[in-house]
Amino acid sequence: MKANLEAFRKDAIALIGEPHVLAGDDAAPYEVDFWKQYAGKAGCVLRPADTAEVAGLVRLAAKYGVAIVPQSGNTGLVNGGIPDETGHEAVLSLQRLNRIRAIDPAGDYITVEAGVILADVQKSAETADRLFPLSLGAEGSCRIGGNIATNAGGVNVLRYGMTRDLVLGLEVVLADGSILDVLKPLRKDNTGYDLKQLFIGSEGTLGIITAATLRLVAPARERVTLWLTVDTPEAAVELFRHSRGVFGDLISSFELVSSYGVEAACTHLPGVRRPVADPHPWHVLIELAWTFTSGLRERAEAVIAMLFEEERVTDGMMAENEAQRQMMWRIREGQSEATSKIGYVVRSDVTVAIVDIPKLIARCDAFTVAYGPEVTVLPFGHIGDGNLHMNFVVPREKAKELAPKLFDQLFAEVDALNGSISAEHGVGRAKRDAIVPRKPAAAMAMMGKLKSVLDPQGILNPDVVVATALKNKPVA
Ligand SMILES: Cc1cc2nc3c(=O)[nH]c(=O)nc-3n(C[C@H](O)[C@H](O)[C@H](O)COP(=O)(O)OP(=O)(O)OC[C@H]3O[C@@H](n4cnc5c(N)ncnc54)[C@H](O)[C@@H]3O)c2cc1C
Repeated sequence: MKANLEAFRKDAIALIGEPHVLAGDDAAPYEVDFWKQYAGKAGCVLRPADTAEVAGLVRLAAKYGVAIVPQSGNTGLVNGGIPDETGHEAVLSLQRLNRIRAIDPAGDYITVEAGVILADVQKSAETADRLFPLSLGAEGSCRIGGNIATNAGGVNVLRYGMTRDLVLGLEVVLADGSILDVLKPLRKDNTGYDLKQLFIGSEGTLGIITAATLRLVAPARERVTLWLTVDTPEAAVELFRHSRGVFGDLISSFELVSSYGVEAACTHLPGVRRPVADPHPWHVLIELAWTFTSGLRERAEAVIAMLFEEERVTDGMMAENEAQRQMMWRIREGQSEATSKIGYVVRSDVTVAIVDIPKLIARCDAFTVAYGPEVTVLPFGHIGDGNLHMNFVVPREKAKELAPKLFDQLFAEVDALNGSISAEHGVGRAKRDAIVPRKPAAAMAMMGKLKSVLDPQGILNPDVVVATALKNKPVA
C-alpha cells in the first residue's frame, strides 16, 4: 500500500486532536537521540493519551501504509527510537500514557502505563515499601515502555536480572490495531506460549507496548557501597569471584572503572572527587543490599579487613553516607559524559564470559596501539554480568573515520571470545546489519518470519532489528 502521510495526519488529528499531532520545530526533540549521535526527520509526531488512541492510530497507519516509530524516553543508544531521514515515518510517543494503574505489595506487583518514567516507577514502589530494581543512568528520562522494548539491563542485573525477568504481564497494540491484553499479575500461567516474551526486547518492531505489570521485590533497607582498587582487570575478576562466594546474592552491583575514566570524571564533572587518595589503575564499585535495617555494614567491614590482609585489594573505602554513595555512582555513571569533554566517545556495549574480560581489555589495548595517542580505550561497566561498555575516546574531527574501524576490530575480538556485540542496549539500526553474520541463520530466519507474521505490512519500526536498508547515518 502506498504511504499517504497527509491523509493519515488529517485522520490522526481528528482522532487525538491537533495539539497532539506535532510537526516542524515542535517535532524536533523527537528526531534526535539523547547523545545527538543520530538524527532523522519525522512525517509527524503523534502523542496519544491512552491505549485506545494508540490502537486507533495504528489502525490508521495500517490503512494508509504509514510507518510508525514508537518512542518512550528517547534515551536508546542504537538508533531505534527516532525516525529515518525520509520524513515519511510517524513517531508515536508514549509519553502521555503515564498513569500508575495498580500497585499491590501483597502480590508484589505494579501495573503502569508505558510512558511512566523509570524513576517514577521506582518511587511508587518505595511508597508501597517495595523495590523496583531496574536501575540505569538514564532512569530520570527513560520510560518503562522503552525499557521493556529494549530489555534494558543496568546496574542491578547481577541480582535481579534484566527487564525481561521483571515483567509479569503486558498490554500491547498489534500492527493491525488490535489490543493483546496479557497484563495479568500471575507468577504461574502455563497456558501455552508466553506471548509477552516476544515483545520484550523487540524494539518496537512487533507491537507497541502500552502497559506492563512489573514484579516488585523486598526493599533494600540497608545498603553498603564499597569503592575498592586493584592493579589489574584479572584482580578485579578474582575479587568478583571471591566476593560472590562471601556475599552471594547480597551483591546487587559489581562495576569496573579504569583509572583514565576516574580521573576524567574528577576533572570534568563538577564537584566529583576520587573516593581514594591516590590514582590507581583500576577501581571497583560494589553495592550490597538486604532487607534488614542493620548488620550488613559490620559484616562488610569484616570482609574488607580480610580483603586487605589477603592483598586482594590495594585501597578502598565504604560510603559513610548517601552523599558519598552518590559521588561513587556519579563517577561510574558519568563516564561517557566526562570523557565526552575530552573527545568524541565511540560507544559500545559488548559481553563476554566474565573470565574473558581481562583478555578483551588486553586485546583492545593491543589493537589500539597502532592508532597512537589518537585513540584511548575506556572500558567500564557491569563486569559482574560480563558486560563492558568498551568505549574509545577519539579526536572529534576523526570520529567518522575511526568509529567504523574501531567497531570492526572490537567486534572481531568479541567474536573470537564467543561473546555478543550487544549486551543490553539492543540492535536498533546501529547494529542491525552487524548481527546478521553473527547469529545462526536459523535464528535470523525465525526473526524474519515472526516479523512478517506479526507485522505483515512492515509498518512497525521498519529498518530496525531485522530490516535491510540502512538509512540513518551517525551525525558524529
Ligand atoms: C546516560 C544513559 C545511560 C544508560 N544506561 C543504560 C544501562 O545501564 N543499561 C541499559 O540497558 N541501557 C542503558 N541506556 C540506554 C537506554 O536508556 C535504554 O535502552 C532504555 O531502556 C531506553 O528507554 P527509552 O524509554 O528511552 O526508550 P526509547 O529510546 O524511546 O526507545 C528505545 C527503543 O524501544 C522502542 N520503544 C520505545 N517505547 C516503546 C513502546 N512503548 N513499545 C514498543 N517499542 C517501544 C523504540 O522504537 C526504540 O527502538 C542508557 C542511556 C543513557 C542515555
